Amino acid sequence: MRHPVSAFVVEYFYWVFIGVLVVNLLQRKYKREVLKKRAATLYVAVAVFAFYIYAYGVIHFNVSDLLLLPYVAVVATLFAVYRRVLFPFAYRCKSCRQPLDFNRILYSDSNLCSGCAEKEASAADGA
Ligand SMILES: [Zn+2]
Repeated sequence: MRHPVSAFVVEYFYWVFIGVLVVNLLQRKYKREVLKKRAATLYVAVAVFAFYIYAYGVIHFNVSDLLLLPYVAVVATLFAVYRRVLFPFAYRCKSCRQPLDFNRILYSDSNLCSGCAEKEASAADGA
């Protein structure tokens, strides 16, 4: 096998792309609560699909798998520099640092646990 990495990417990343799009469609249900994260899953889906196309090109033009590295470097740099926009998912509450549950990680832009979100909502009502 001449392209082990590219072949792996071509074989499996299409399904990763579909999985990210399914998450994006599930986020639709939460509408205004999850606008930033919904855009972010779309950006991640585009990056995954572009990687799939790039790997397909590597195999098609019969060049080295090492040419995948520039793509990975560019995308990793973009995601590091624009992290707040491209990957706003947090695993801990930004207020009390407790681990967030799966639904709040994917479907809430606030990155607050349910307790802190209720406190913030009641503070906003009281003000
Ligand atoms: Zn909290």
